[in-house]
Amino acid sequence: MSLKIAQVGEAILQTPAIQVTEFHAELKTFVADLKDTLVQASGVGIAAPQVFDPRAVLIIASKPNKRYPDAPDMEPLVMINPSILSQSETTNQAWEGCLSVPGLRGLITRSNQVEVAYYDIDGNPQRIELSGFVARIFLHEYDHLIGQTWLDHISSSNQVMAESLWLQNYAK
Ligand SMILES: [Zn+2]
Repeated sequence: MSLKIAQVGEAILQTPAIQVTEFHAELKTFVADLKDTLVQASGVGIAAPQVFDPRAVLIIASKPNKRYPDAPDMEPLVMINPSILSQSETTNQAWEGCLSVPGLRGLITRSNQVEVAYYDIDGNPQRIELSGFVARIFLHEYDHLIGQTWLDHISSSNQVMAESLWLQNYAK
C-alpha cells in the first residue's frame, strides 16, 4: 500500500527519528508499504519520516527509472537504526532530488564511501560498506533520520535546478 509523502515544510521532516526497539510483524508491514511508496513515486531511496512515521527506518533501492535514468540496479536494502561507522574524506558532487522536495535538484557534495552499521528487518545486526551513488542515497536518506534534507546542504542558488531542466540536460 502506497503511503502519503510528506512535503518540505512538514514538521516530521525536521524531527530526528526515534530508534526501533520492536521488530514485530507491524514493522514488516510498514516496510512493505514504504517500499511500495518508493516504487510508486519512482524514488531510489526513502526514509520513514517521509511518510509521517518517526522511526529510524530507511530503504535504498537504486534502479533506473524516469527520475533517475542512470541509477545502478540493486536489490532493495532495508536499514533499521542505521549509524555511520566511518565516512571517506574523498567526496564527489552530483545533482540529487528528493520525493519530499518535488520538482528540484540540488548539487550536493557527499563522501565517496561510507561504512554503516544497522539492523535488518529481523533485528539482526549488520554492517556494510557503500560507495558511489549508493553511498549518496544512504547519506541522503540518513539526513532524513536526523531531521534534515538536501536543502540543509545548500549555500548558493547555483546549487539548485528545476528537475525538468536536469532531466533534459544532465541525465545521460
Ligand atoms: Zn529525500
